[in-house]
Parts: sequence; structure tokens; C-alpha cells
Amino acid sequence: MLIKNIRYIVTMDPQRRLIKDGAIFIEDNKIIDVGKNEIYKKYKTDDVIDAKGMVAMPGLIKAHTHSPMTLMRGYIDDLPLIEWLQKLWTFEAKLKPEDCYYGSLLACLEMISFGITTFSDMYLYPNEILKAVEKSGLRAMVSPLIFEKINKDCNLRNARKFLKKKTERVTPALGPHATYTCSKEELIGVANLAEEKDVFIHTHVSETQNEVKQIKEKYGTNPVEFLNSVGLLTDKTILVHAIWVTDKEIKLIAKTGAKIVHCPIANMKLASGVAPVHKMKNITVSIGSDGPSSNNNLDMFEEMKAAALIHKINNLDPTLIPSNYALEMATINGAKTLGLNDTGSLEPGKKADLILIDFRKPHLTPLYNPVSHLVYSCNGGDVDTTICNGEILMKNRKFVLDAGKIMKKVEEIKEDLLKR
Ligand SMILES: [Zn+2]
Repeated sequence: MLIKNIRYIVTMDPQRRLIKDGAIFIEDNKIIDVGKNEIYKKYKTDDVIDAKGMVAMPGLIKAHTHSPMTLMRGYIDDLPLIEWLQKLWTFEAKLKPEDCYYGSLLACLEMISFGITTFSDMYLYPNEILKAVEKSGLRAMVSPLIFEKINKDCNLRNARKFLKKKTERVTPALGPHATYTCSKEELIGVANLAEEKDVFIHTHVSETQNEVKQIKEKYGTNPVEFLNSVGLLTDKTILVHAIWVTDKEIKLIAKTGAKIVHCPIANMKLASGVAPVHKMKNITVSIGSDGPSSNNNLDMFEEMKAAALIHKINNLDPTLIPSNYALEMATINGAKTLGLNDTGSLEPGKKADLILIDFRKPHLTPLYNPVSHLVYSCNGGDVDTTICNGEILMKNRKFVLDAGKIMKKVEEIKEDLLKR
């Protein structure tokens, strides 16, 4: 596939090249060439996209979500975290595996529409999520939730079985919910299994002040230090939120090579706090949205803008988290966080995960700097084309999936859930 006449290519390669008037050549699922428009003359193919007026960039990487929670989008809002969680857990207890398949498929559809090509999920019924990812054409890390107190199937034995289900586009990992919801024995079991199978661990940590208080009372230490004490802090650990972390814990995270996922909108909505991202030097920080019940959409453009703004106001310093860093968090840092090092930038040899954004819009005119527009002016609806693993999943905003059928099915599930 040849994509030519691209207005700008935002490569996110090590030199962070911006190529004006560019072209990209893709063969099977790989990028073969990225350069000035003239390179198109080298390649003979009938499979051509004319990207006039478009900006090409790597597909966005959402490093944390709970995709089936689209089913609870807008069901409850504006409550304190504990009250919100209790209502949500009661509702979630009614979910059947098939519901999670359709909830996840709807999330995939939404992510395709917003230019996301890879996401990292943690939830109940991981086999259903895997099925939805396979059907959608996206790439994902899927972590079975380990949280036996909420669902007896969310145990280590089932998680171990799921680790065998690696596919070309799905990487299994382990998803212990958090230090305050899993027992110490469960967490030690996760650490041992992760080491045995050499897989990633994906967990929430230090989301609220109350959680830190609970862990201190129970174990006499802060949550990140506690994770380290049970062997759960390694370079394959993905820590979500990390809001109430001390400077000592930040140093410990940097030393171990663990990664952090920042979810600014969900943190604002639940009034959890602001993660000290500006202090997280020498740590790979990426961006997630958390579940669609606490956001309430999966748009990574909104999330990038929030990540760039929240630290400025919180520290009264407009120089913090500049647009180029927000874009790194949503692309190349997402790839590093998930260990998917052949994604996250547009370079020869990398996977063909890319998007085209239509810049022929009033809110994207005039164009001085495409990175500024991508972070501060674009929204998910500006994405025209989404390509993952060399396959077109949306073109001219038309989906390959049957969007009408999926949305109708989710409305039916909603009606049924309210009666259960
Ligand atoms: Zn979460």
C-alpha cells in the first residue's frame, strides 16, 4: 500500500522528524519506507491512498482501559470514588461473558474512530476481550483481572491459562487490580507467575489518599514500596495512576524500570488527584483513559490535551508537559510501556500501525506546527483513516466493522441489564 501526497508526516522516530509533503510505503503488515513524496516513484502498486490535506502519524496507544465498561458509560456520574465504585461493582456483578464481548467490541469501534491502534485492557472475561480484539483488527495487551474478592473466576489459575493465548495482535499479561483489593498472597503469586512466564504485570497503584492510608495501616509502608517488597516492581510492571507517590517511591520506580500510565481525565472526574508527572524523570510515562465509566469516552486527543494542561494549572507553570512530550506519551512511550517496540513510530521495519488526520478544518487552520494542533486543537473526530498491522480499519470515516449492528446490540444489552 502506498500513501502519497501527505501534507506532513509526524514520524515520532528517534530524530522526531516532521516530513513535509511525504509518502509512506507499506508491504503486508510492515512499513517499508517513509520519506519525501518523490519516493512513491520507486514503488509499483495499484493500492494507493491519496492523503492530500492529511497529516500521518503513528496510531495512538492507549496504555490503560477497561474496554467492556462502555456498557456502564453514563450510568453513574458525579459521586465520590467509594460510592461510585460500590454502585458500579453491584451493576458489574450482573455482566455475562457475551455482554463483555459486545462492550469490548463497541470500545474497539470507538477506538478505531479516534485513531487508536493499540490498547491495554484489564477486566473480567478476558477471553471475550481477546475475541473482540481479533474481530476488530486492533492490537492489544489483555490482562485478566486478578481480584478474587469481586469474582471467583478472577483468580491466578485462570490467569495462568490465559497467558497461553498469545496471538499475532494480542499479548497476554497479568492484571492484579490493586494493593488494597488483592491479598498479599495473591500478589506474591502474581510476582512468581510473571517471573516464570516472563510477562508484564498491569496494576493500579496510589490512586487515592485513602488507599495509601489503608496500605500504610495494613503493611506499615507506602503502596509502591509494598509492591517492591512482594517482588512486583520490575521493568515489566505497568503502574496505573501513581498519583499519591512520594519522591522516594518515584526514585524506586525509576531504579526498577517500572512504567507509569497517566489517566488525567478519569483522575479529574473522580477527584482522585494529579499525578506528579513533571517529577517523573527517567521513567517511561504513557497515557490511558481508564474505563469509559470514569471518563466517559476513549478519545486520546482529549487525553493528550488534558495531560498537557493539568500540570500547568496544578503547578502554575505553563512550561510543564509541552505538546511534544504529550504526543510522545500517547505514541512511542505507550509502545515502550507495553513492550511493543515495533510500534509507536513511523520507521522502516516497524509495524504498519498509522492514522491519517484530515487537517482541512477551520479549527486546524492555519498550520504552523502539526504537533501543536495534534495536542491542542484536534479531536478524535478529525481522524480520517485508521490502519493497524497493515489493514485498513476505517477509511474516510467509514468502518470495516458493522457499526450500526454493534451499537444496536449494546443498546439491547443495556435494556436487559436494567431488568436483571
Ligand atoms: Zn483502571
